[in-house]
Amino acid sequence: MMAAGQAASEGANCILLEKMSIPGRKLSITGKGRCNLTNIAELPEFISRFGKNGRFLRQAFHRFFAPDTIEFFGQLGVDIKTERGGRVFPVNDNAPGITEAMIRWLKKCGVTIKANEPALGLLIENDSIVGVRTERNKYRTDRVILATGALSYPATGSTGDGYRFSKSAGHNLIPTRPALVPLITTGEIARKLQGVSLRNVSATLWIDGKRQAERFGEMLFTHFGLSGPIILSISSQAVDALNRKRRVEIAIDLKPALDNTKLDNRLLREIQSGGKRKFQTMLKSLLPSGMIPLFCELTGIEPDKAANQLSGQERKKLRDLLKSLRLTVSGHRSYNESIITAGGINTKEIDPRTMESRLVRGLYFAGELIDIDGDTGGYNLQAAFSTGWLAGRSAIASLLAPSAQKRPS
Ligand SMILES: Cc1cc2nc3c(=O)[nH]c(=O)nc-3n(C[C@H](O)[C@H](O)[C@H](O)COP(=O)(O)OP(=O)(O)OC[C@H]3O[C@@H](n4cnc5c(N)ncnc54)[C@H](O)[C@@H]3O)c2cc1C
Repeated sequence: MMAAGQAASEGANCILLEKMSIPGRKLSITGKGRCNLTNIAELPEFISRFGKNGRFLRQAFHRFFAPDTIEFFGQLGVDIKTERGGRVFPVNDNAPGITEAMIRWLKKCGVTIKANEPALGLLIENDSIVGVRTERNKYRTDRVILATGALSYPATGSTGDGYRFSKSAGHNLIPTRPALVPLITTGEIARKLQGVSLRNVSATLWIDGKRQAERFGEMLFTHFGLSGPIILSISSQAVDALNRKRRVEIAIDLKPALDNTKLDNRLLREIQSGGKRKFQTMLKSLLPSGMIPLFCELTGIEPDKAANQLSGQERKKLRDLLKSLRLTVSGHRSYNESIITAGGINTKEIDPRTMESRLVRGLYFAGELIDIDGDTGGYNLQAAFSTGWLAGRSAIASLLAPSAQKRPS
C-alpha cells in the first residue's frame, strides 16, 4: 500500500493487485488490534533490532523513518501516541482504522485497487520486467513492486507467493522460518502453569549451556510452552538453534531485581516475620497463586510445613528456583502463530538505495518478503513502510529519468 501510494502520488499510473477482498488484512490485526505503527528508538538502536541484516535498511530508513511515519499518518488524520518502550500507536487503538485511512489515501492518490485478483506470475524478457499475470489479465508494465508479505498468518493473504515469483526470476531465497513465535517446552511445567502470566521477570536463552540472550518484561505459560513478548523476542535465536539441533533452554528469573544475597535476605525476613505461617501461605507473597502448587512440588517441601521450620538447604532450593525456573525448549509453533517470518529474498540481490532487484530490471521489493525480520515494538511495520516508500519512489523516479538509472554493479 505504501509503495503503490507513493508511486501514484509522484505521478505513476498504478495498479495494486490484491489477492484478498481488501488490502491490509494483516495490518488490521497488528498490535493485538491496536497497531504498533513504529517506534521512536534512535536509528542505531532501531537498526540493531533487525540483527545482522539491519544494515540493509539503513538507506530506506534514511529516506523514510519513524518521524516520517508519524507525520504521514498525522496527515491522514490519525492521532498518534507513544507508549512504554517507545512504541507508537494510534490514539484510538484502532488498527482497522489505519488500514481504512491508507485505503482512502490510495484512492485519493489515484491507485486502482484490484481486489480478489492474485498475481500468478511475473512476465520477464531479457532480464527486464514486462508485466504481471493474473487469472483474468496480463498487465503489461515495466515496473513491478513485489510486496506480497511472507508466510506468517497465512489467513491474512501472505502465503509466500512472492518467494515463488522471485525464484522464477532467478532470485535466491534465504531459508524461511517462523520468528517472533511461541516456543514448545518439554515436561509438565508449562502445562501445569498454563494461563499464568508474569510481569517484570527476565527470561534467559541458553544454547548448549551458553547464555545467548536475555529479555526483561512480560511472558505467559501456555498448554504447550511459553509465549508473550519476552519469549517472542528471543524466539528467532531459539528457532535457529533448534534447527541446528542444539540444546535450547530458557531460564526464568522471577525476581530479577534481587541478586542471590538480597533474595536470601528477603526469604529470611518472610520466614522470621511469618510466625507459624505455612510454607504455601508464605509463597503467596512471592509468587502468583497459580505457581504455588508447582513450587511446592519442585522444591519437595510440604505445603503445610511451617515456614519457620524450613532448613537452610530448603531455603536455598526455593531461592534457586525463584532465580532460575528452567525449561527445555523442544520446538516452536507454526507460521499460523508466528508474528513474522525470518529469511526471504537475499538482501545481497536487492539494491538498498532503491529496492530494485539486482537481477531483473524494473522489479522492486518491499516488506517482509525480503530477508529482514525485526523485534516486536513497531520495528517490522516501519521496515515495511520504509522499504515500500523507497520502492514506490524509486520505481517512479527511474521511469521519469530512465537515463539517470544506472544498473547497479
Ligand atoms: C498478529 C500480528 C501482529 C503484528 N503486529 C505488529 C505490530 O503491532 N507492529 C509491527 O511493527 N509489526 C507487527 N506485525 C508484523 C507486520 O504486520 C508485518 O511485518 C507487515 O504487515 C509486513 O508487511 P508486508 O506489506 O510486507 O506484508 P503483508 O502485511 O503480509 O501484506 C502482503 C499483502 O500481499 C497480498 N498478497 C500476497 N500474495 C499475493 C498475490 N499473489 N497477489 C496479490 N496480492 C498478494 C496479501 O493478501 C497481503 O495483503 C504483526 C504481525 C502479525 C501476524
